[in-house]
Amino acid sequence: MDLFNEETDWAKELRPLITKYKGKDHPLNYKNIYQLMVMVVLAAQDSDANINKVTVEFFRKFPDMKALSKANTAELHEYLDKVRFNGNKIAWLQEIAETVKEDKNIPRTMKELVALKGVGRKSANVILRESGAEAEGILVDLHVLRVAPRLGITTDGDATKIEKQLMQKLPKDMWGEIGMALSFLGRETCRPTNPKHSECIVSHVCEYCLKHKA
Ligand code: SF4
Repeated sequence: MDLFNEETDWAKELRPLITKYKGKDHPLNYKNIYQLMVMVVLAAQDSDANINKVTVEFFRKFPDMKALSKANTAELHEYLDKVRFNGNKIAWLQEIAETVKEDKNIPRTMKELVALKGVGRKSANVILRESGAEAEGILVDLHVLRVAPRLGITTDGDATKIEKQLMQKLPKDMWGEIGMALSFLGRETCRPTNPKHSECIVSHVCEYCLKHKA
């Protein structure tokens, strides 16, 4: 087998990951699309666990976009003081609430989502997936950034470059699920140190694994 996997049928080889992780809850404990939107903005450069914790009280106080749009900055700081870079994130949330106004207006297209402050392609891909909208890209978070080049499906690079390569190699019907599946693989198996190759269901096509066995 070619170690660099030029010939690999990635769609066929990675589908078992989708089967394994489809339906698994997203690590952010959101209950509706409003909560998800707030949480993805807050989770940038912070941990999902921290955001799950701090937003319990926050969502009691601000249960929807309408309530958020009426909040003042000092109040928001009070609830979000344990979130990293909370100053910028609070300003973005205020701008989003002012633009969107009500939960029902939360966009379901990539173009409209990335036009919102604090929402990049990664967050937009999560929102599209979780809201059941048509996928327009592939989620690339820090786990996918590590796993995809290890597998050999992409080269090393930033999220934009890796998403583009994944979109070129995988059919559109996989876009909505494969990002999260690769992310779960990275969280559970393909850890930054001591990846658990022997437990990995895609080890037979993995460039990193084949190289390190050689
Ligand atoms: S075989 Fe190892 S390096 Fe490759 S994806 Fe699986 S855990 Fe990661």
